[in-house]
Amino acid sequence: MELAKYTYEELLQQNEELRIQLEEANDTIDAIRNGQVDALIVKDADGHQLYTLKTADQTYRVFIEKMNEGAVTLNKDNTILYSNSRFAAMMGLPLEKVIGLNFAVFIPEISVDKFNDLMDKGWEEDCKGEILLANKLGKLTPCQLSCTTLDLDEGTALSLILTDLTSQKEIEWELKIKNEQLLAAQNAAVKLNNELEDTVRARTNDLLISREHFKLLANNIPQMTWTNLPGGEVDFYNQQWYNYTGSRYAESVGWGWQHMIHPDDLPNTLDKYIEALKTGNTFEVENRYKRWDNTYRWHLNRAVPLRDDSGAIIFWVGTATDIEDQKREMDRKDEFIGVASHELKTPLTSLKGYLQLISSYKKEELPPVVKQYIGKASVAVNKLQHLINDLLDVSKIQAGRLEYAMGEVNLSELMMQVVENSKHIYPSHELEVQLQPNIFITGNAERLEQVLMNFINNAVKYSLADKRIILKTIVKNNLVRVSVTDFGIGLSAEQIDRIFERFYRVEDKRHITSGLGMGLYISDEIISNHLGKIGVDSELGNGATFYFELPVIA
Ligand code: ADP
Repeated sequence: MELAKYTYEELLQQNEELRIQLEEANDTIDAIRNGQVDALIVKDADGHQLYTLKTADQTYRVFIEKMNEGAVTLNKDNTILYSNSRFAAMMGLPLEKVIGLNFAVFIPEISVDKFNDLMDKGWEEDCKGEILLANKLGKLTPCQLSCTTLDLDEGTALSLILTDLTSQKEIEWELKIKNEQLLAAQNAAVKLNNELEDTVRARTNDLLISREHFKLLANNIPQMTWTNLPGGEVDFYNQQWYNYTGSRYAESVGWGWQHMIHPDDLPNTLDKYIEALKTGNTFEVENRYKRWDNTYRWHLNRAVPLRDDSGAIIFWVGTATDIEDQKREMDRKDEFIGVASHELKTPLTSLKGYLQLISSYKKEELPPVVKQYIGKASVAVNKLQHLINDLLDVSKIQAGRLEYAMGEVNLSELMMQVVENSKHIYPSHELEVQLQPNIFITGNAERLEQVLMNFINNAVKYSLADKRIILKTIVKNNLVRVSVTDFGIGLSAEQIDRIFERFYRVEDKRHITSGLGMGLYISDEIISNHLGKIGVDSELGNGATFYFELPVIA
């Protein structure tokens, strides 16, 4: 077209005509694409031509245009003869730019071989395969490619249907990850389960060993052993129990053991047992158990609780040790002490009498040295008499025969007297006295003096450099508390627990003193007989305060 020949207005008009023609052409193409026309007349240099569309099946064209898959038709050179909008959209290009392109431009390097194979095969027969397509920005899209040959007027073409596999691949990928996670979780669970099984097996084994260990131990000690629950029911006895009692499990289990205890010992045993269950303190009691031959033997019972981490009692372990032989020995010893002290008393009384006779016989004629000997002999005889009296008291207590008359006693006066005597006997010690006057009690003055003298003797015996001894009375709530304090070696808590026992003495190699461990035992008995209380406050190395409390006469 030679533009110079036209005026501006003419050019404008031609431009407008061309625009209208283009719109018509576009409409026509859309009409064909959407199957609205099957034929069209096109004006060209040879005049008007009628074009009918051989594959002008409206339904299929609409279907192909609307379907979700990409559809293209290629000739032998892979030139795109036809493409639906979906394929153009998949490749990110306007439709008109797709037609006429070589399909190979959408094939990335990685898929070239696969694509070529599919193409070679596709011209022969229908085939399918997965490939990657690259859009204009190089983004890869996984696709399923299906090839079918088409017979067109112009010759055979290859129709490709391209299904976007992106979301399917994503789902597959996600599924794969989920599967892997599931597998990992399964493996972890299996591992955990195996570990758990191993632990349970090991624990069961440990438990079995420790139970066997306990049984072995329990059945091989000479004592009878049991375990009982926090409520008191016994749930285990060792073999010795069955051998001794001749009972069976069913008879002994729970509280059945009560039938094996001597009826006289049962109330005290039950009291102590229930007390221990309540407080969680060690259970300790002596009682007689019936043997299979219906004889009774003395036993010392001890039970201690086993607690969990929170301190709650899980169960108790108890033992009953046969002390029948020791008891017999002790009885024999008591009997001997009783007889011996009694036998000693008679010659001692004569000895004392003769000493008195000698000392009063023609005094002025006795040389001073003899007088001195007589004095020393009298002190020794007095000591001996004290000792024998203590021994006699002990055997009387054992026989339940420590008897004496009770009456009204002025305790304040009695104490003053004791203080006077003590000052005389122990001039090297400082006796500090804090007494209240006229404290009256019901009791036996001689026996109470015996207790006080025992406290003072001990205070002297167990004191060190500090020679002070404090005697004190305090009246409170109708009770008088009499105490003797020293500043000597003192006592540990364990020693305190035992000092009122018969013949108990603390073994202290640094502080050896004479004595038989009878004084506090007798004092305890005397104060109990007076319905009072005896005790000691002390710390090792820090002196001691021995005291007793008695009801005062109002
Ligand atoms: P003895 O003094 O004859 O051994 P006791 O029955 O009077 O017997 O005392 C028992 C034990 O108590 C003593 O052996 C001693 O170990 C301890 N004891 C008594 N009094 C005191 C005290 N004042 N200080 C320290 N220990 C004491």
